[in-house]
Amino acid sequence: MRVIDLRSDTVTLPTPGMLQYMIQADIGDDGRARGTKGEDNAAAAAEKAVAEMFGKEDALYVPSGTMGNSVCIMTHCKRGDKAVTCQNMHMYKAEKVAFTEEWFGIKAVLVPQKKGCYVLEELKKALEENEVKLVCVENTYNFEGGTVLDRKEIEEILEISHAKGVPVHMDGARIFNASAALNMPVDKLCEGVDSVQFCVSKGLSAPIGSFITGSAEFIKKARIVRKQMGGQLRQVGLLAAAGQYAIENLSKRVVYDNTRARRLAEGIDGAKDISIDMDSVQTNIVKVDLHGQLKGRDWLKALEEEQSVRAHYITDDSVRLVTYRGITDEDITEAIGRIRSFCSMH
Ligand SMILES: *Cc1c(COP(=O)(O)O)cnc(C)c1O
Repeated sequence: MRVIDLRSDTVTLPTPGMLQYMIQADIGDDGRARGTKGEDNAAAAAEKAVAEMFGKEDALYVPSGTMGNSVCIMTHCKRGDKAVTCQNMHMYKAEKVAFTEEWFGIKAVLVPQKKGCYVLEELKKALEENEVKLVCVENTYNFEGGTVLDRKEIEEILEISHAKGVPVHMDGARIFNASAALNMPVDKLCEGVDSVQFCVSKGLSAPIGSFITGSAEFIKKARIVRKQMGGQLRQVGLLAAAGQYAIENLSKRVVYDNTRARRLAEGIDGAKDISIDMDSVQTNIVKVDLHGQLKGRDWLKALEEEQSVRAHYITDDSVRLVTYRGITDEDITEAIGRIRSFCSMH
């Protein structure tokens, strides 16, 4: 039986067109300063393209989403400062590094969320009771099943935060999936957000990296922080070019990943001993709640052994299925059949 791998959109590989574009990149030493950029023309061109697409003044390539978020947090804040986040936000729960005392030592002010959006009254209260230096948001929200922060929610969060003079950082690892779900371009969606990190190495199919974008002054400072974290790379234009190719050629097609995830969710909803909160299926992630005897990793292991379908662990009571370029309509039909059959036998 052929394997259907629904673990993560990070398994995407570069396209032939992308590889071609990387080879012709006009590269140089990005660590040799030339004005506000390095000597790598391809990196500078990619960063300019990102800034233009997001309607921001400047942008910066970073080797990973984790580093992008950390660079942004440590550009906005210093050790000991307080930042608002959530219990299950990727930056806090998965990356940890910014909020770990031994590492960057940011103090987390935890605010509850619903479907990935802060409970606004609680956010207001947190900002009144604490001297907060940064408000973090995530779009799409990974551990809630890829839910979207829409423009209205973003505006409310911006209004509450900016009224207190507090900047807002968006972990937009999958921002193009949100943009596709809302049918709203990223510049409109991220308007007013002080810094945005997004991954090109996930559904966008680039091999490595992320970009951060914000004001010219912010990116100037962030460039120094990136260097201190070891994220200044030499002929980085090879990788940045892949990212530029990705946003220009592959960022719109993620809409198909969103619709395929929806069809997958509808297809397996109601199978024995699992449930799906269908309201949370908004982009390319399907969070499946498990109610049977098999839990978390055992459920995943059995599904892979018996049906050659791979999925990813969230908690002992939930797993996720992720669609991406390479998962076709036939794969979805096949996966629905195999998962239903698996559930009925356990
Ligand atoms: C994947 C992910 C990141 C981190 O990206 P890496 O490139 O794996 O470091 C950050 N935030 C969210 C929401 C993610 O899904």
